[in-house]
Amino acid sequence: MSSSITIILDKCTGCTLCIKKCPFGAIHMASKKAVIDMAKCTLCGACVEPCKFQAIELNKEAGEKKDLSSYKDVWIFCEQKKGVIQSISFELLGEGKKLAKKLGVKLCAVILGHDIESKIEELSSRGADKIYLVDHQALKSYQDDPYTEVLTKLAREYKPEVILCGATTIGRSLVSRVAVKIDAGLTADCTGLDIDEKERLLLQTRPAFGGNIMATIITPNHRPQMATVRHKVMKEAEIHKGHKAEVIRKTYPESVLKTRTTLLDIVEEIEETVNLAELRDDKGACKGDKRRGRGFARYG
Ligand code: SF4
Ligand code: SF4
Repeated sequence: MSSSITIILDKCTGCTLCIKKCPFGAIHMASKKAVIDMAKCTLCGACVEPCKFQAIELNKEAGEKKDLSSYKDVWIFCEQKKGVIQSISFELLGEGKKLAKKLGVKLCAVILGHDIESKIEELSSRGADKIYLVDHQALKSYQDDPYTEVLTKLAREYKPEVILCGATTIGRSLVSRVAVKIDAGLTADCTGLDIDEKERLLLQTRPAFGGNIMATIITPNHRPQMATVRHKVMKEAEIHKGHKAEVIRKTYPESVLKTRTTLLDIVEEIEETVNLAELRDDKGACKGDKRRGRGFARYG
């Protein structure tokens, strides 16, 4: 049986209360009875309880219960530009370490690029227990198709419990594609993360309803639990020189790395504006450098 929602016309008094309770604007009145627009209804159930006349009947399909027990480890997608690991990755490694500790699993860094062997030491020193490294010319700069295919393949093979990614232009573009492919839950733009240790759930907190409330979102029925995290919200992982991570090098055939676009050039734009988030001295205090480069990719 598939899920369905029905208005029981005999019981509906036309009080209109359900219209106010539907967050998706899916209910209207016709001939003094509530009518649900199934093109808008998400079957969220928010209208059922407020109806004092039990005029709304929601039947939700139980759905096939997935075996989630084989999913392990916290993965951090480490974004690199021109071979430089972006600072958001270190923030995520710092936060990921705490989450991995609570779950009793390993913290893993995932890095895609070209000539990136030298990044192993940097990621190890930031606390990664394992590094998944895919090195290929086609991955030198971010492109949607090969990055999506590679991360999808890695996730399917190694089954991480959690995948975190920066809420950057690249991160948002990449993980939304991956989440759809692997049928995972994804919460965008999180500002807080924690673990429900009993249920092994990632608690993903983010502003909701125009920033008026903070919502904590969970993904109980799907794995991995995926989230993008805003820049400069979390503290960077401390550097521990000498910490060694296990490295898993993966290679993929050209068919996996092909792209529908051609990257012609990456153009640096010099701005006369100050990015307050990035301006810090060695002690973490703001400094006053006014010129800053911003990258643009031109595709053909
Ligand atoms: S709240 Fe119930 S009774 Fe009122 S209009 Fe909606 S369905 Fe009808
Ligand atoms: S189930 Fe949710 S989306 Fe559908 S009509 Fe009720 S409140 Fe609106």
